[in-house]
Amino acid sequence: MIMWLFGETVKIGYNSFMKQSELFTKTLRHLPADEETINAQFLTRAGFVDKLMAGVYSYLPLGLLTLKKIEMIVREEMDAIGGQEILMPILHPAEIWKKTGAWTTVDVLFKIKSRTEKDYALGQSEEEVVTPLVMAYVDTYKDLPKAVYQIGWKFRDELRSKSGLLRGREFYMKDMYSFHVDQPDFDRFYDIVKKAYLKIFERIGLVAKVTEASGGTFSQKISYEFMVLTNAGEDNILYCDVCEFCVNEDIAKRKSGDVCPKCNQGKLSQAKASEVGNVFDLGQKYGKDFDLGFKDGNGKKQYPIMGCYGLGISRLMGVVVEKFHDEKGIIWPKAVTPVDLHLINIAKDRKIADKLYETLQTEGFSVLYDETSVSAGEKFANSDLIGIPTRVLVSDKTLKEDSVEIKARNSDKTQLVKIKELVKNLKQ
Ligand code: ATP
Ligand code: MG
Repeated sequence: MIMWLFGETVKIGYNSFMKQSELFTKTLRHLPADEETINAQFLTRAGFVDKLMAGVYSYLPLGLLTLKKIEMIVREEMDAIGGQEILMPILHPAEIWKKTGAWTTVDVLFKIKSRTEKDYALGQSEEEVVTPLVMAYVDTYKDLPKAVYQIGWKFRDELRSKSGLLRGREFYMKDMYSFHVDQPDFDRFYDIVKKAYLKIFERIGLVAKVTEASGGTFSQKISYEFMVLTNAGEDNILYCDVCEFCVNEDIAKRKSGDVCPKCNQGKLSQAKASEVGNVFDLGQKYGKDFDLGFKDGNGKKQYPIMGCYGLGISRLMGVVVEKFHDEKGIIWPKAVTPVDLHLINIAKDRKIADKLYETLQTEGFSVLYDETSVSAGEKFANSDLIGIPTRVLVSDKTLKEDSVEIKARNSDKTQLVKIKELVKNLKQ
């Protein structure tokens, strides 16, 4: 099906015209008993996701549309910087994980034994797969640099999984890996990826702060984490109220109230945040672990400098809900709303609304059409819960004026618009 996205019509293969009576999901009146976070509560009640067990969710029709919109933004920006999309396996032989030491050092690695007593791991990140894969095609320095990425499911044996989509045991991630002849070339690309990440968050409508941290298990090299401030987040950060300085509190030798070490003007404030992405300098670790190198200009063997770049797509969906909601429900930013318009009919005769539903589709809008027979009050409550940014209401009152009423989800103002001017008005 066709979807209206950023002023272009994009084919994404998902049905983005839906009659609400035909949706197999329904909005739920009551809070799901075992969900503590706003994102999980609203997404469940609005019929976007369904929990199978802690940290594992099904994505339902509306939820999948939003997930795919975020995915598409990420894909566009990774393609724009030369990333080549691939899809690697999730089921891995234990041997590759033993080779890098991660079989014993990565505590979140899910391990599986087959009925023939063979060990396997489920992908939690894929350096172990991508390094041999890409290096098989790299003979000399002329074959570098290269960057490949994938978008898919990751599995982690997280101890605690109570933040809804923010911490899954199965979650949707973009992971990119780059290979370079030397540090300067890596640094050049690292900077490009950082900028692409900021662009992704901006397109979604989020402001991400960038923390600098040492790369932990991988190396002593610098890594950057992209943090969105939210009380549902599990990270504590310190940030400057004047400049862009930001650090993760766990590693910082500083505290709230300190003068900013970067600009010497601002004060550091403490905040809760969710890490929506990060970029790592992996150095030569993986090339060396697998003993996979390339020939430099003198024919001498060298190991590539690698980078890895993670971005939590399903976590982003949860973070968006944490940032954009009110007491009635979700308020989707236009860039990631499941559909553009929520068309609601409360007129006795459905004919005009039915016709509008068709017209809006042919004009390139994606539409959820509430033609159910529940009360007007219930329809408005459902609409506020689901959170589509623009509501188009057809009632006997508006029809008397040959009009419909338009209302933005994030405003109380309503506007009467003549039916024949609706498309023009919406496109403005
Ligand atoms: P965290 O500190 O939150 O556990 P991480 O440092 O383990 O994150 P990475 O291994 O770098 O994260 O993964 C890349 C991205 O994947 C993270 O920036 C985050 O957005 C997302 N991510 C990581 N773990 C989860 C999870 N359990 N559920 C959902 N998204 C996750
Ligand atoms: Mg983690």
